[in-house]
Amino acid sequence: MPQREPTPSSRLTELGKRYWLPVYKPRELVLDHGKGARVWDTEGRDYVDFGAGIAVNALGHGDPDLLAALTTQAHKLWHASNVFYTEPPLRLAEELVQASGFAERVFLCNSGGEANEAAIKLVRKWAAAQGRAPERRVIVTFKGSFHGRTLATVTATAQPKYQAGYEPLPGGFRYLDFNDAAALETTFAVGDVAAVMLEPVQGEGGVLPAAPGFLKRVRELCDAHGALLVLDEIQCGMGRTGTLFAHAQDGVKPDIVTLAKALGCGFPIGAMLAGPKVAEVMQYGAHGTTFGGNPMAAAVARAALARLASPALLANVAAQARALRDGLAAIDGDLHLFEEVRGRGLMIGAALAPRYRGRAGEILDHAAAHGLLLLQAGPDVLRFVPPLTITAEETAEGLTRLRAALAAFVAA
Ligand SMILES: *Cc1c(COP(=O)(O)O)cnc(C)c1O
Repeated sequence: MPQREPTPSSRLTELGKRYWLPVYKPRELVLDHGKGARVWDTEGRDYVDFGAGIAVNALGHGDPDLLAALTTQAHKLWHASNVFYTEPPLRLAEELVQASGFAERVFLCNSGGEANEAAIKLVRKWAAAQGRAPERRVIVTFKGSFHGRTLATVTATAQPKYQAGYEPLPGGFRYLDFNDAAALETTFAVGDVAAVMLEPVQGEGGVLPAAPGFLKRVRELCDAHGALLVLDEIQCGMGRTGTLFAHAQDGVKPDIVTLAKALGCGFPIGAMLAGPKVAEVMQYGAHGTTFGGNPMAAAVARAALARLASPALLANVAAQARALRDGLAAIDGDLHLFEEVRGRGLMIGAALAPRYRGRAGEILDHAAAHGLLLLQAGPDVLRFVPPLTITAEETAEGLTRLRAALAAFVAA
């Protein structure tokens, strides 16, 4: 038998296997271009995109507003540093503050990890300014959380699999069970908690929303004990759950909110929003970044924000969330794969039934083979985070492909 000619895409993936630090394990395809909620690979196969990167491409692919914002700015000025002002980050900061309903100031950076790193540093600086000793600056986070990969944010991330081997980890973090208000009361009684940091909907931890009333209770306890409430909306923010900010549905005002992922809809940018208690804590020289707030990223984020806050887009989130959930229920009615379908808006998790636990990765392989880009949230949960602009037709086509993929998985 003559050896099969390597396909162009396998020649490309070989490069990743040879030269990348092997910290990723992408599926065996090379994506090339996209339009709306569809993507094509280098071999011309098309995929319905139920992942949007990882909840990043909220306006889908090839959006004309984003392209115009990026190319217009690209012809003007790419970078100036924070030693000089440029217009896009100035306007973006004002627009984020106005949209937030709580924030007074904004720190722009390049990623979610950096936004959370800034939030952690701000909590520490605030506690220090209050005269609290270092051992009384504890930040409480929750099991199953994900806050990033820098040394401080991976320590905030209360999942051992992300921390293993990176010890010694920075101190000052304490982990509790998510949605356990009683445990939070107990830990506050110790008197050393400076802040509670959480995702209103846990993303990587399995698409797990905060229980009704939990955020309100956390806010009350923070107020009663002089602690800050930090919300990581890097994945669940920017319209994903049906409101621009996820916490709007919980009826709380946070002290700090972090954003990234969909903030730039695919162009790297992160932000930390600071409310009145903390907006003046970091002064000249206290923090910084070279690329943060660069005019290209900020110009794209301004265009993204205008669209993601619009009633038409948020209405589409609600409509397509319903369609996706109905479709998942119909598929499950026939194939009996799921234990639970949960989430908020277009951030949906389908937890696999006990007999299929640990096999989400296999399902993703079947999905890709059937022309569907799908994500997992851990080994037991399928994660649906499509572009927020996904059309009814694209949702329906994605569900058709999902049904075929799941049938093939069950039959295999
Ligand atoms: C993705 C994510 C982060 C980390 O963002 P990076 O841009 O990868 O650094 C932090 N928190 C949450 C909730 C996330 O989903």
